[in-house]
Amino acid sequence: MTFEHKLLIATTNLKKRGEMAEILGAADLDIALVSLADFPSAPEVDETGATFLENAYLKAAAAVDLTGLVSIADDGGLCIDALGGSPGVHSHRFLGMETSFADKMTRILQMMEGLPDPERTCRFQCAVVVLTPDGRRFDCMGVCEGKVGTEMRGDRGFGYDPIFVLPESGIHMAELSPHEKHRISHRGKALAQAVTALRTIY
Ligand code: IMP
Repeated sequence: MTFEHKLLIATTNLKKRGEMAEILGAADLDIALVSLADFPSAPEVDETGATFLENAYLKAAAAVDLTGLVSIADDGGLCIDALGGSPGVHSHRFLGMETSFADKMTRILQMMEGLPDPERTCRFQCAVVVLTPDGRRFDCMGVCEGKVGTEMRGDRGFGYDPIFVLPESGIHMAELSPHEKHRISHRGKALAQAVTALRTIY
C-alpha cells in the first residue's frame, strides 16, 4: 500500500516537535511533516505504558486513529542508576506536571548530593514508533550514556539537558548546538532508524 506523502509527528511538545522535524527534515524524505498542533481536537494520550516503547506505541496508535496518516511518536526520558532508574517513564511527570524543570533538576541534584562521579551514571533513552494506517509497525530505540552533573549548565535543548553531562568532554547536553545534540542524542539515534523505516513505507 502506498500513502499520501505526509507524516504526522504525534507530539504536542513544541521543543520535541522541533527536534524531530529538524532531524527528519535533514533526511530529505520528500514528505510533508504535520503535527498534532494541526489537529486541535487531538485528545491528550495517557502514558499508561510500563516502558518507553509502550508509551510511544500508544501515542502513535492514537494519532493514526485520529488522522488516518502515517504517524511517528516518541517517548523517552532520563534513567539514573543511583535512583533505581528514576525518573524513567515518569520523567515528564516527576514531582508533578506543574513543577518546573528547574525545580525537578534541583531536586535530583539534592538527591545525588555527595555521590562520587562513578556513581552518577545515567542515560537518556528514546523509543520511536512509526505506524501506518494499514497496521505496519516499526520500533526504533536510541540510548545516550552520560553522568548526572553537580550543577545545571547551558540553556539549549529542553527537559533535563542542563544536568546531563557527556562523560568524554564534560560538556552538558544543554550546551550543545541543536546539530551537535542530534548527532549524539538518544532521539537522534532512534530517529535515524525511523528514517530507514520511512524510506521503505513511502
Ligand atoms: P515524553 O516523551 O514527552 O513523555 O516525556 C519525556 C520527558 O523526558 C520529557 O518531558 C523530558 O523531561 C525528558 N526528556 C526526553 N528527552 C529529553 C531530552 O532530549 N533532553 C532532556 N530531557 C528529555
